Amino acid sequence: MFEKILIANRGEIACRVMETARALGVKTVAVYSDADRDAKHVASADEAYLIGNGPAPADSYLLGAEIISIAKASGAQAIHPGYGFLSENPEFVDAVGAAGLTFIGPSASAIRAMGLKDAAKVLMEEAGVPVVPGYHGDNQDPDHLQKAADTITYPVLIKAVAGGGGKGMRLVERPEDFAQALKSAQGEATTAFGNPDVLIEKYIQQPRHIEVQVFGDGKQAVHLFERDCSLQRRHQKVIEEAPAPGMTEDMRAAMGQAAVQAAEAIGYKGAGTVEFIVDGANGLRPDGFWFMEMNTRLQVEHPVTELITGVDLVEWQLRVASGESLPGRQQDLTINGHAFEARLYAEDVPKGFLPATGTLTHLEFPASCRADSGVRAGDAISPWYDPMIAKVIVHGPSRAAALQKLSSALEQTQVAGTVTNLAFLGALAGHKGFACGEVDTGLIARDLEDLAAPPIVQVAQKTAAAMGALGLVQTTPETGFTLWEPLHRSVQLSHQEEVFVADVQVDGPDRQIWTIDDVEVIANRRGGAWMLDGMPMPQVAQSGPEITVFDRYGFSFTVIDPLDRDASAAGDSNVIEAPMPGLVKAVFATAGQSVKEGDRLAILEAMKMEHALLAARDGVVAEVLATDGDQVEAGAALVRLEEAAV
Ligand code: ADP
Ligand code: ADP
Ligand code: MG
Repeated sequence: MFEKILIANRGEIACRVMETARALGVKTVAVYSDADRDAKHVASADEAYLIGNGPAPADSYLLGAEIISIAKASGAQAIHPGYGFLSENPEFVDAVGAAGLTFIGPSASAIRAMGLKDAAKVLMEEAGVPVVPGYHGDNQDPDHLQKAADTITYPVLIKAVAGGGGKGMRLVERPEDFAQALKSAQGEATTAFGNPDVLIEKYIQQPRHIEVQVFGDGKQAVHLFERDCSLQRRHQKVIEEAPAPGMTEDMRAAMGQAAVQAAEAIGYKGAGTVEFIVDGANGLRPDGFWFMEMNTRLQVEHPVTELITGVDLVEWQLRVASGESLPGRQQDLTINGHAFEARLYAEDVPKGFLPATGTLTHLEFPASCRADSGVRAGDAISPWYDPMIAKVIVHGPSRAAALQKLSSALEQTQVAGTVTNLAFLGALAGHKGFACGEVDTGLIARDLEDLAAPPIVQVAQKTAAAMGALGLVQTTPETGFTLWEPLHRSVQLSHQEEVFVADVQVDGPDRQIWTIDDVEVIANRRGGAWMLDGMPMPQVAQSGPEITVFDRYGFSFTVIDPLDRDASAAGDSNVIEAPMPGLVKAVFATAGQSVKEGDRLAILEAMKMEHALLAARDGVVAEVLATDGDQVEAGAALVRLEEAAV
């Protein structure tokens, strides 16, 4: 086993790898960017070194040569790449080897073989693995591609051969839409991957995404069963589970065998995932799955496999990379129970899942779940990297029991300081079709309106917020109010767009009568715990003027300072601002142009996603303040509308 390894990553995966390393007695070296000086992964490592000259990945976590020289200087023998960043970069793997270090992962040639989706498909066809019918040849002439699509018959999917993270993909339903979709897929592929090439695939109508975890030692491979990742939004995974609902022994055996065949065909070493698309229209059948791509790294959702197999995949990675043979044989691997993982992100769901930033003033997970997280209370979600806060992972004896556990773990998760997708995840965990195992990749889009609707704030939550705001939760007889004369106080709070006033009559240390929106709520303290109209009062956290009530996934309130008049004034609807730091991808507005509310005026690329910036009202563009390619700060004015006529 290694004595010391360097982890060339950040966030939850860096922390996850360090945990296993520590358990095995392996020392860890962290690297960090300027933005991550105080990050959890830095504090968790035995040693940590600053890299690069700025927070952007290209100036920090992607600097392979610098990372390798830190590994050498610190005496690390191997480098774990985590996922993302350099994990699937064959040049980096070669450079690690050339420096006399071990790359904890597959060979450069295995990564190259799977790096481009088209070449991987050809290879898999040759290895006898079923692939989605389609065209994955070299001819990129638009007419040729259109003919290929016509032959495959619609609907078809255009995919960037270099694609990843759901980018460069377009669904085409009719031949007349093909040319336009091809252009836009190629455009996105060029900006995202520097490679415009695409392949054409038959679009599976009721698709399920089922992937198989494989593990190889360079010669032989085993599989650790499947994960179902069909709950997706825009081709990005949201909730994953293992095993797949409705899976039959026949199909599991066929998929496992195909995945092992794929891994062995490229001499795969380490942890990898073979992703298949499955036609869910007529139930699961041993001949109803096709190879999509292979991810040559540890996957984000690996914990669900760990929980049903009892295998620590990072431990296996370290063992095999250090020269040991495969730690388990196929016949020793079994499935125990069911596991779910939900990805908790800092994002504003009602605003179209807009990624958010902020400082986590409070962060707590229930003991009933495994929470893999790269942040702690007090840490910031910066605009530079993936806005994932944590993965909430649960295990139960059956799917129903595990889903029940997921629901309650999400209900008990407490986050303050940023908006999150917690309520959305909770709604998904409670979705009736999902509970029945009716999963396909279209589920979220079909029911988006219900799933994304924010929980409506109730008077009890407003009361709890007001009690927090006035410091009336911890009252004691010594707090200073007179016991003889009832004390009246009031506070103004806002929740989203709504501003309300809460009045209280304090009747003693254990009784308060609140009036909010003309509704009366009695707060009574019994045995030290407050009850609101007879129901337990939810927990409250406060940070400056921000108050979070931990009930139904959390409601945030802001205390309005009566002396600060601007606080309640509406925002300036004349100016379209960048909601976060990012790159201006396109500006559609021109001075003098008339626009309607909701018109797309610019596109900002930030946190790996494109955000359309819309006109907040009808009007005329007065001034365009940004151009394509500008790097802008949060709050930068991009477009200004003329003053609205009154
Ligand atoms: P998985 O298949 O393991 O669930 P993804 O394929 O969504 O995960 O992403 C795997 C890794 O690649 C993650 O580290 C993620 O942050 C990173 N990633 C995903 N999409 C992009 C993108 N568009 N640009 C850069 N990195 C990405
Ligand atoms: P990426 O590299 O971006 O992860 P994939 O090829 O793995 O791209 O596809 C991402 C997702 O797109 C899949 O999980 C699935 O939901 C959907 N998808 C891909 N191929 C097809 C197909 N042929 N038919 C229907 N859906 C598909
Ligand atoms: Mg994929």
